[in-house]
Amino acid sequence: MIRASVDFSLPGKQFGHLYVPYSYNMAGWANLMVPISVISNGEGPTALVLAGNHGDEYPGQVAVMRLLRELTPEHVTGRIILIPTLTMPGAKASTRLSPLDGKNFNRCFPGNPAGTPSEMLADYLTTVLFPLADIVIDIHTGGRGVDFYPCAHMHLVPKGPQREAMLAGTEAWNSDFCFLYADVAGTGLLPVEAESQGKIVITTEMGGSENVTAAVHQLTQSGLRNVLVQSGVLKGQVATRESLGLPPIRWVQALNWEDYRFAPESGVYENMVTLGTEVVAGQTVGAIHFLERPEREPVNVVAARDGILIATRAPTIVTQGDCVACIAQEIDPRRLP
Ligand SMILES: [Zn+2]
Repeated sequence: MIRASVDFSLPGKQFGHLYVPYSYNMAGWANLMVPISVISNGEGPTALVLAGNHGDEYPGQVAVMRLLRELTPEHVTGRIILIPTLTMPGAKASTRLSPLDGKNFNRCFPGNPAGTPSEMLADYLTTVLFPLADIVIDIHTGGRGVDFYPCAHMHLVPKGPQREAMLAGTEAWNSDFCFLYADVAGTGLLPVEAESQGKIVITTEMGGSENVTAAVHQLTQSGLRNVLVQSGVLKGQVATRESLGLPPIRWVQALNWEDYRFAPESGVYENMVTLGTEVVAGQTVGAIHFLERPEREPVNVVAARDGILIATRAPTIVTQGDCVACIAQEIDPRRLP
């Protein structure tokens, strides 16, 4: 049901939209219009560059908007397909979920061609766009809810050429940390579908909370370009941490449920550890205070294991069950089974 106003087979540079049909009370034949750009030049790999999977995650949307304006076909060997804002209604409303259908786009995969707008768009990615791509880049942040130490991240797919290419691509973002993560919050993720189709999938958590610093924008934009150069689809010289005068990347993983700490009660959350620093098992990383019972001792959130605090709660008000901390262990990903 989704129509594209761009032709993926044509050389050159095109701007257009994906037309996702839907109805609302003031229009029976409406379309959700998702901007898309295709920049193609000769033989080479295809990179699918995605942002705004969650509406309130803006650094990637800004980076992809910049890239699609700046790139010309002469910069490209192969093809780059860019979608700056997957969840347009959420991005306009500064919400994680789409206000149009209440869906979390990153739980809609593989999608449903007869479903809601989010489900239809997920199906289009699964059946049309992923099969065109060799590399899938999906740029996230922690949104309004979580503040991450800005990092590129990935799933640990089975050992083999796909994993090796994903490790190299993730490292090409040149973030201080690279992060192996687990799906603690459900199924139906975009990267899982792309991975199952054998794609080189590179994802990020470029900070979070409502404030986006200049440093986070810069890392998002430089990392995205460098990954595209590293993958061979964008011409240029690959920058390494060493060439940038930076210390080596630190790989961390949080693959166990205990690595993700959830608020045991609702209240006011006090972050007590700086992002990116080391903690030990049993250390208090945060405390929940009670506005209506100030004399009550706060409830502490403690680290289950030694590790590095890679993400914290962003808003100060927490509801019971919110993730308030993620503590990751330093590893060498090339020694993992
Ligand atoms: Zn996200």
